Amino acid sequence: MSADTAAVNLLEVRGLTKIFGSLKACDAVDLTIRKGEIHALLGENGAGKSTLVKMLFGSLEPYSGEIRWNGQPVKIANPNAARKLGIGMVFQHFSLFEALSAAENIALSLDDQTPISTIAAKAQALSYSYGLPLDPYSLVGDLSVGERQRIEIIRCLLQTPDLIILDEPTSVLTPQEADKLFETLERLRAEGKSILYISHRLEEVKRMCDAATVMRHGKVVAHCDPRQETAASLARMMVGSEVHAVVRAPIEGIETAEALLEVRNLSRKPATPFSMPLKNISLNVRAGEVIGIAGVAGNGQGEFFEAVSGEAMQLEAGTVRIRGQDAGKLSITGRRLLGAAFVPEERLGHGAAPRMKLSENLFLSRYATDSKAFLGPGGVVKESAIDAATQRIVQEMDVRKSARDPEAAALSGGNLQKFIIGRELDRRPTVMVVNQPTWGVDAGAAAKIRQSLIELARSGSAVLVISQDLDELFEISDAISVMHNGELSRPLPRAEATLEKIGLLMGGAEPGHVDHGLESV
Ligand code: ADP
Ligand code: MG
Repeated sequence: MSADTAAVNLLEVRGLTKIFGSLKACDAVDLTIRKGEIHALLGENGAGKSTLVKMLFGSLEPYSGEIRWNGQPVKIANPNAARKLGIGMVFQHFSLFEALSAAENIALSLDDQTPISTIAAKAQALSYSYGLPLDPYSLVGDLSVGERQRIEIIRCLLQTPDLIILDEPTSVLTPQEADKLFETLERLRAEGKSILYISHRLEEVKRMCDAATVMRHGKVVAHCDPRQETAASLARMMVGSEVHAVVRAPIEGIETAEALLEVRNLSRKPATPFSMPLKNISLNVRAGEVIGIAGVAGNGQGEFFEAVSGEAMQLEAGTVRIRGQDAGKLSITGRRLLGAAFVPEERLGHGAAPRMKLSENLFLSRYATDSKAFLGPGGVVKESAIDAATQRIVQEMDVRKSARDPEAAALSGGNLQKFIIGRELDRRPTVMVVNQPTWGVDAGAAAKIRQSLIELARSGSAVLVISQDLDELFEISDAISVMHNGELSRPLPRAEATLEKIGLLMGGAEPGHVDHGLESV
């Protein structure tokens, strides 16, 4: 390489490959990061993004390929070696000790004997200069996810890296916290630092990044300038085919439609020291509408789903009503018999038994509610009816698989989720409650799932969707509520719900303030 390219290119990766068993998680990846740029690394779940950056940070060893740093070939044997070169990383999953303070956590990662008070002072100065205020003596256990991420970022900045890698940093943040992070990154860029930014949020990538590398199935499929692309063209590169936009026709006369799912003054004590109490939640979901529940993870969404689905029963029957009938003391099956369907967050184990075939999974979840269809006289299992229903669902939801009736575990995450949602839709439920419908699902499958939920509602059912993906909620919901600290805000009709209002509620703003104008907040 010439001296010129070394002057502008901080990092050059050529032919980098990583193999797990028989899977090429990274297949001859090329990547060039220039000095002072924010470079996006795009790709669907499982594309190989995390694997690639772990090799750059020395936490995975490449199978083959070359890494050049400032023009020089380097081997990055471990994260310490990466830090010494000037590569810092903010992880997708946090690696902090809850019982220690922010400063103590930072001290642990610096392998020298600097006194805590010095580290705390440095961390605080740095945090203010980058607009990420942080009290270095606060206990990590008391901090929000956004604040924990600040510690990770400050810990990384304290080592004055030239390249900062962030693996999906905004997936756990409110929109306002994400905006703060963008300001920080833009500041770092202005100082000449390079940033490798992993995200699947295309609007944010277009807004902030100077260059993008797109991966699919372990291979680089495109290098581009995201500012010259549209969200749709970026999605097409990631998926490899056209992603159909979800269509949502407006609904009329919803005020007078029948409430098919009613939650009335639902409270719940925490079942474990780590669960969130639910505080007097009330909500109606009417025939024809999709209601979305937004919220930062861990604010009671899981506890709410359990209470509505019957995984956790209530003491009073009237706290959950399905089609006008008290259901609070009914089991999951009891609630399903009233016409409700529930899709939990965890796909394997919870939504489907991994070692059972799709047809067996179908039978297991439906024999109680569809005994006429699947059981003959004397309890004989109607194999052909089960097989027909299985294939119908596969067809309807476009479930891609390698055998006619494989085990659930043999399907990719997105395809299994399409099957599970399809299995419930096939019952034509009058009430459908879904937790994280497209978590970790590729864009094509996600669009299919979202469209099918809207269509179910428009056919006269009540649909309730809990999701951490705000773009998803804005795409499918007729009204959006926010869960914060175990409380649920009044649903804001889609026309009134702005990203800013929902974001403020996610951060714990009083609903009254958000309703009555943002100036007062
Ligand atoms: P991304 O970050 O783009 O979602 P990953 O790099 O995490 O993708 O994963 C790429 C592929 O490698 C996936 O199919 C994943 O299941 C597989 N994979 C990742 N880490 C391991 C591992 N330690 N062992 C086996 N397979 C792995
Ligand atoms: Mg990843």
